[in-house]
Amino acid sequence: MRSRRSLVSVPGTVSWAARPAAAAASRVTSVQVVTASPQETERLAARLAARLQPGDVVAVSGDLGSGKTTFVRGAARALGVREPVSSPTFTIGHRYEAPVPVAHLDLYRLAGIDPEEWADLEPYFDGTIAFVEWPEHGGEWLPATRAGVTLTHVDEKRRQVSIESGDDLGL
Ligand code: ADP
Ligand code: MG
Repeated sequence: MRSRRSLVSVPGTVSWAARPAAAAASRVTSVQVVTASPQETERLAARLAARLQPGDVVAVSGDLGSGKTTFVRGAARALGVREPVSSPTFTIGHRYEAPVPVAHLDLYRLAGIDPEEWADLEPYFDGTIAFVEWPEHGGEWLPATRAGVTLTHVDEKRRQVSIESGDDLGL
């Protein structure tokens, strides 16, 4: 059985345990933007993407249809992903090749994570920049996040997008 602790000590992987929980909880970056189109949401995501580095995990929360996958698509494109970025609803995730590989997970169907499931999920976080839809379904297994994005319906075309981070992302 693989434990979280052993994963953290694997050479070459990024240690999320090293990040202080207190910093993750504080909100040094707190940006609220109302976007008026999917393209605007994608452009905002591209701005965040420019601030990310290998090992970063971004939690992307919000109701169905709020624009989570749209946001991830914009970020992935900005990070150099060329193939179409679609919702991984019928698989747990996609891993896209790019200068820094991009992982896109959707945990909607997970009721909870046990060590076996984590063993399937863990490679998605290895050396990637990872975006996780429905992060709340990952519980404590999810690595510490660099940023949290929350999307909320305003009306048919507008979404409130909130980006928060314990780091100053310069957004
Ligand atoms: P989720 O992954 O949260 O279920 P998707 O990104 O798959 O959501 O779908 C969002 C839908 O809302 C898409 O059809 C998109 O075109 C539409 N949409 C309309 N306005 C916006 C906006 N401002 N930002 C993002 N998506 C929008
Ligand atoms: Mg989605």
